[in-house]
Amino acid sequence: MPKTIIVSNRLPVKISRVDDAYHSSPSEGGLATGLGSIYKQGDNVWIGWPGVEITAQDDRDQITAELKDLNLIPVFLDQEEINQYYEGFSNEVLWPVFHYYASTYAAYKQSNWDYYQTVNKKFRDMILSVAEPGDVIWIHDYQLLLLPALVRAQMPDVSIGFFLHIPFPSNEMFRLIPWRSELLEGMLGADLIGFHTFDDVRHFLGAATRLLPVSSNANIISNGERSVVIESFPMGIDEKKYASLPLQDEVKEQIGLIKENFKNKKLILSIDRLDYSKGILQRLEAFQLLLEMCPECKENITLYMIVVPSRDTVPQYAHLRDEIDKKVGKINALYRTMDWSPVHYYYRSFPIETLSALYYSADVCLVTPMRDGMNLVSKEYVASRINNDGVLIMSEMAGSSKELIEAIIVNPNNMGEVCRAILQAINMKPEEQRRRMIPMRQLVAKFNTSHWVKIFMDRLKEVKLMQRSLQARHVSNTTEQSIINRYIKTKKRIIFLDYDGTLVNFKSNIDQASPDKELYNIINKLAEDPANQLVLISGRKHENLDSWFKDNDIYLIAEHGSWFKQQGTSWHKIGGLSDQWKHDIYPILETYVDRTPGSFIEEKTYSLVWHYRKAQAGLGELRANELMNNLKYLASDKGLQLLAGDKVLEVKNMDINKGKAALTLTEGKDYDFVIAFGDDYTDEDIFKALPESAITIKVGSNLSAAKFYLRNPAEVRKLLTSFARYTPAEMDVEK
Ligand code: UDP
Repeated sequence: MPKTIIVSNRLPVKISRVDDAYHSSPSEGGLATGLGSIYKQGDNVWIGWPGVEITAQDDRDQITAELKDLNLIPVFLDQEEINQYYEGFSNEVLWPVFHYYASTYAAYKQSNWDYYQTVNKKFRDMILSVAEPGDVIWIHDYQLLLLPALVRAQMPDVSIGFFLHIPFPSNEMFRLIPWRSELLEGMLGADLIGFHTFDDVRHFLGAATRLLPVSSNANIISNGERSVVIESFPMGIDEKKYASLPLQDEVKEQIGLIKENFKNKKLILSIDRLDYSKGILQRLEAFQLLLEMCPECKENITLYMIVVPSRDTVPQYAHLRDEIDKKVGKINALYRTMDWSPVHYYYRSFPIETLSALYYSADVCLVTPMRDGMNLVSKEYVASRINNDGVLIMSEMAGSSKELIEAIIVNPNNMGEVCRAILQAINMKPEEQRRRMIPMRQLVAKFNTSHWVKIFMDRLKEVKLMQRSLQARHVSNTTEQSIINRYIKTKKRIIFLDYDGTLVNFKSNIDQASPDKELYNIINKLAEDPANQLVLISGRKHENLDSWFKDNDIYLIAEHGSWFKQQGTSWHKIGGLSDQWKHDIYPILETYVDRTPGSFIEEKTYSLVWHYRKAQAGLGELRANELMNNLKYLASDKGLQLLAGDKVLEVKNMDINKGKAALTLTEGKDYDFVIAFGDDYTDEDIFKALPESAITIKVGSNLSAAKFYLRNPAEVRKLLTSFARYTPAEMDVEK
């Protein structure tokens, strides 16, 4: 029975040492609750670091045995590994860069990187010790970015999902990391990569396609032979728990106390872990400004601020904690009165019952991080508002602001805006509070943690099915053999070959992709067999094909069918077509060349091509879209077709296409073996035009009308070389 393996840096467990022995107790974070539905079932397990350094083997054995009953498997780390992999690389490179604090806090140390790799391998080894074919592995977060590819290398077919719980930054930030390509390659070992928001998805796609030689189609990245799906899955909370807590007696009691303590005051709640990304100092700054600007706020509003201790042995965090202490001290010193303190500040964590009472009681929840992957506090506040009142103020830099759109959304750097938002919140009429809170509560109720887990796991299954159906079309050894058998048995064959991307790899300079010796050899060998008619069918200019292949025994078709050259004859242009339309289109294309550095126009007999391969990534696509829209009506008016290809936009006569050209060679002939190889949109016309009995092969695994696919030109050459072995002369030699 296949199992599911959850992997994260930390196990959902607290380990304590009492009387010289270690004890473990489950810890109930949001993720642990959400994933509880998975890892507690059957043979499923959760692999991770237990959170403390345990060195003695006896202790390790004891803890391992204890955790086994909870379906948990520990990965033990020594102090140096914790320092360098966790504190060093994860928290001093990835955390600051991914939260846009690269210039202030990131330190790129080689030894941290070395440890990061070593520890990721340690996690891999633990996975390999329990994983079996058919299992599903779900890896979590920024400490384990290399793990998907490490596991993939050992288990090529296993299902791997990866979820990042922090933001994925724009490529302008991400590319600062010296080991950026390795990190991306590590993540792309997964089949499905999930982020909290669509912005993170866009950023990841942008970074991967700019920094690695991979291509993307919508949200799918083709990584060699695998298609990796990139999608957003905004994480939710255990909504039912937060909605029911305020009804418990213990919570009710605390609510009563809060009401009593803060009667006639507007209570503004803020809850964060100690971190520079949370914008705590800026929030205090804004609150001070409000007290300065708004005399009536004095004695009427209270900021109830909880900061949960985190990593305060690290100097940057200790410094932040000291700054917060000072700032709170200053505000209270300036504005406090006999019976009112503007800021109630707590540097500690609270039990969930107290948090619930606060969420339930606070008039306003002020959530203003500078950057946050999701932010669960905002969702917990919403879920606790069972009377549909209360106002949420939300930073636009937090992932949850993309879902909780009825909140008052602010830019946390804009002090004035934050002050105005607080004023708007404390003066908001109950009807408006309800109008905003009801849809937010519905959203938080629907998109809860179990929903998040379910849609991620369902999608991972779908992705695997998609990959498998694609794999079925790949020319595997058995299909290859049956194609070769058919080849051997047949007497009159026609072989259509596209050139760029099919016989040779793409080059950024179109003049560089000239044929090499191996290719000439393959073509010559195949052409030697009198049973073979070879046809090179390309979008390139006829002069170009002529210079490369005029002396070879091969039928040439250039410019998608505008020009023909049979072996031993000269070139012929297709008759009866006009190219007068070029006078109108050319000047339009020129304006795009003027505005898009690196782009250029190629003129062919019956087409004009705007190339943008060398334009800045993104800009070319943007302009191509614009150009496409610009030409849409003119093109249909003039009987032209617009083709958006790989970094090109081609405008051509509608009557010319490779499919028609291929048909003129096959129709009425009695070929008993028809095969066509092609890689792009223009070759789809051939695949569609040829009769059902033809073998059609697409190069690359994108959607296609072709029956089969091969991964790259090298695989095409391999198949053609297999054919060539059966040319009569060659067989004589082999005998
Ligand atoms: N939290 C807690 N104890 C406290 C205060 C907060 O356990 O005293 C929890 C809070 O309920 C929330 C989490 O800490 O679930 C903070 O999550 P969030 O996404 O807001 O920030 P993160 O710390 O993950 O960056």
